[in-house]
Amino acid sequence: MEAKTYYNDDADLKYLSDKTVAIIGYGSQGHAHALNLKESGVDVVVGLRKGSSSREEAQNEGLEVLSTAEAAKKGDIVMVLIPDQFQAEVYKNEIQPHLSDGNVLAFAHGFNIHFGQIEPPSNVDIFMVAPKSPGHLVRRVYTKGSGVPCLIAIEQDYTGTAKNTALAYAKGLGGTRAGVLETTFEEETETDLFGEQAVLCGGVSELVKQGFEVLTEAGYQPEIAYFECLHELKLIVDLMYEGGIEGMYYSVSDTAEYGGLTRGPRIIDEVTKKRMEAILSEVQDSTFADEWIEENKNGIPKLKALRSDLDNHKIEKVGKQLRSMMNWLEEDKTAEAAE
Ligand code: NAD
Ligand code: MG
Ligand code: MG
Ligand code: MG
Ligand code: MG
Ligand code: MG
Repeated sequence: MEAKTYYNDDADLKYLSDKTVAIIGYGSQGHAHALNLKESGVDVVVGLRKGSSSREEAQNEGLEVLSTAEAAKKGDIVMVLIPDQFQAEVYKNEIQPHLSDGNVLAFAHGFNIHFGQIEPPSNVDIFMVAPKSPGHLVRRVYTKGSGVPCLIAIEQDYTGTAKNTALAYAKGLGGTRAGVLETTFEEETETDLFGEQAVLCGGVSELVKQGFEVLTEAGYQPEIAYFECLHELKLIVDLMYEGGIEGMYYSVSDTAEYGGLTRGPRIIDEVTKKRMEAILSEVQDSTFADEWIEENKNGIPKLKALRSDLDNHKIEKVGKQLRSMMNWLEEDKTAEAAE
């Protein structure tokens, strides 16, 4: 089954023409949505909490900044772009009271709707427009006349025009220039959590750490182990990003290709796959979501302890020293803030 994909001609900005879009939050996604939509000719207001350090930044860009509640009131479409773990609280106190009949509640990730943390009334549309990249890239690519691929999903279509509005929103972001794929809140949420846990964040960083430990425990210098197991990962990932796994293997040496193809499956094998399936089950049956919501209610004690463990790991200590030798990294960092 292939995802349905939409382009510029499938989307019409007229579905936003008599509407005000309230962007709640001005972080990675928030600033990109607000500025791209504004430059696409859409009426935008930004909703921020009192004392937000982003207020001046948004105003300097010519955006109208209101409190979250005022923005929710003024907006016909309210896009919630604050961190996922704070959304339920802010929604309950400052957004829900100002949703009127036929308004749109929009998200860039499905967590709170899919796991029932936000339960909107039945007389609004609910959709998702999720750019498949960090906000800074959403903004940069748009200013160059292109766009990043986006996902859209319709959770509730009260007005009968939810999909047209979602596509118009994606067009305003620049997304239909690249292609907009249709998904559901369930699919986006579950695959996003699985991907970051099993592969992207969890899987990769444990692989890197264990590789570093094996080399240093065998007596190799930590600096050399750092370069081989962590630093060079970017080169490999860039090759995969551009040309897939085949493209990566085409570019590395035949020795690396043969070694990787024969040894890789001995590291990540059927047993690992079974554990990945267990991780997916915990995402699907909401074991993970319940645990994460509880962790937040308790003031993230486990997350703080894990952060401190990692900070004390030798790979982080040697990494800090080595990265300070690479002064060009600072520039790259701000441009490519990770999700
Ligand atoms: P962020 O952390 O960059 O920005 C959040 C902003 O929200 C802050 O800048 C601040 O203005 C505001 N904020 C923070 N705490 C708040 C509070 N308690 N009350 C009110 N406002 C508060 O967030 P982000 O990464 O842009 O994520 C926003 C949404 O976009 C999330 O649903 C996320 O899952 C989704 N998303 C993010 C990315 C990404 O690459 N960053 C990609 C796709 C989807
Ligand atoms: Mg993701
Ligand atoms: Mg995620
Ligand atoms: Mg090497
Ligand atoms: Mg080599
Ligand atoms: Mg499910």
